[in-house]
Amino acid sequence: MKQIQNYINGQLVAPVAGQHIDNYNPATGEVYSLIPDSDEQDVERAAQAAQAAFPAWSKTPAEKRGRILMHIADLIDQHLDCLAEAESVDNGKPLKLARTVDIPRASSNMRFYGTAIQHFASEAHYMEGTEAINYTVRHPHGVAGCISPWNLPLYLFTWKIAPALAAGNCVVAKPSEVTPMTAYLLSELCIEAGLPAGVLNIVHGYGHKVGAAIVAHSEVPVISFTGGTKTGRAIAATAAPMFKKLSLELGGKNPNIIFADCDFNNALHTSIHSSFANQGQICLCGSRIFIELPLYETFRDAFVEKVKALTVGDPLEEGTKQGAVVSEQHMQKVLSYIELAKQEGGTILTGGHQVQVEGRCTKGWFIAPTVIEGLPYNCRTNTEEIFGPVVTLTPFDTEEEVIQYANCTDYGLSATIWTHNLQRAHRVAHQVHSGIIWINTWLLRDLRTPFGGMRNSGVGREGGFEALRFFTEPQNVCVKL
Ligand code: NDP
Repeated sequence: MKQIQNYINGQLVAPVAGQHIDNYNPATGEVYSLIPDSDEQDVERAAQAAQAAFPAWSKTPAEKRGRILMHIADLIDQHLDCLAEAESVDNGKPLKLARTVDIPRASSNMRFYGTAIQHFASEAHYMEGTEAINYTVRHPHGVAGCISPWNLPLYLFTWKIAPALAAGNCVVAKPSEVTPMTAYLLSELCIEAGLPAGVLNIVHGYGHKVGAAIVAHSEVPVISFTGGTKTGRAIAATAAPMFKKLSLELGGKNPNIIFADCDFNNALHTSIHSSFANQGQICLCGSRIFIELPLYETFRDAFVEKVKALTVGDPLEEGTKQGAVVSEQHMQKVLSYIELAKQEGGTILTGGHQVQVEGRCTKGWFIAPTVIEGLPYNCRTNTEEIFGPVVTLTPFDTEEEVIQYANCTDYGLSATIWTHNLQRAHRVAHQVHSGIIWINTWLLRDLRTPFGGMRNSGVGREGGFEALRFFTEPQNVCVKL
């Protein structure tokens, strides 16, 4: 059985305590590899290696740092098939999705920041009358802690480590223990690309051991975290009294607002993706669909028909549209929300149950894509994050009403608006409390734009130069002329 190793000081090593955790294939329910059950001793080694590597890495010219990141990007591209299969097996997502979205985006992240750092400028301010000039230098922090979730494993892992490394920091990173495989394979590629020892360290293991030790480490002054809101709150509680710099990308409960004058086919087709891509396990999925009354029944009927046609099956098979959800525990959580929806008065229009897939996947964790109607807009099902293949449909009458519906959760990550009325599109966009708004599209991402949420969806922004600013400390120098 394959045994994953930590990547510390340029070496692939076993955890100090010698303990391992079972790694499951969610499509078969079977253990297929072992993950280091690391603890604070491993984090300490990683932090020391990162500290030792920092002086040389931070003084390495940005152009050279960028070249190494682009070499890693090229290696990711060369290993596309193997990485995509590993991601699919580890996470349960359809192989096609991993091959066309997850892995290509991982190499784009490395390439984007490998080049962005060469265009990252700082400011100068001349003081008229007093004859002084200010210039601002941006220093890397030292060791950055990067903690990422299981839903888009390599995609989100690289989205953090690429800007951290490009800016001249060294990194101690922890991928989700639920999906560690591609981060492990990436460590092999980093060695092949000649990334100097200690610049990137990957410590595998549980959040409450490894993640918590990274956050609490006195020599890790900056933490970039993506994951659940509850975990984000715990991290903030540890980091805030230590005055650490924090970026928190947290949960969402995103509205998908469909006005009657929309491009019906586009709204319908895209809403299938925004509801069920990656089994609904994307923080940006639009799990609350609000439909203007005159279109409600037409949209509902066409939507349910399309959802019924989504093939749930073996993620490695070409025709599969819906793979497994990530773990048995997560499957039970999603199913419990479907029960809650029934108790809250919802009607299940399709799905609502576990699916047993034939063949090698009979013991896998699959859920039929589920559509629910008839729920109050502010009930628990409509305000708490489910993070699975479950959406609700709710009719609305007026613009004011749907804005109220959209804003009734504590989250504020993303929203989608479908309309041909340009003025209304902007008007509604400005009133919905979300960090990211899509009009007549979904998940169209320009990596230069600020990415992140408001309220319980997070603190700070990733993407573009925002991430390079996060991973550097500005220092102003004022010179009297
Ligand atoms: P979790 O919050 O459970 O875990 C995220 C990471 O944090 C994992 O690596 C986890 O390790 C680790 N962790 C857990 N506890 C601690 C702790 N006390 N200290 C430090 N690290 C810890 O999230 P999930 O992995 O379940 O991911 C799903 C969540 O991520 C959803 O809420 C989703 O909305 C959100 N998300 C947000 C995105 C955004 O950009 N806003 C993007 C993608 C997902 P372990 O796996 O061992 O528990």
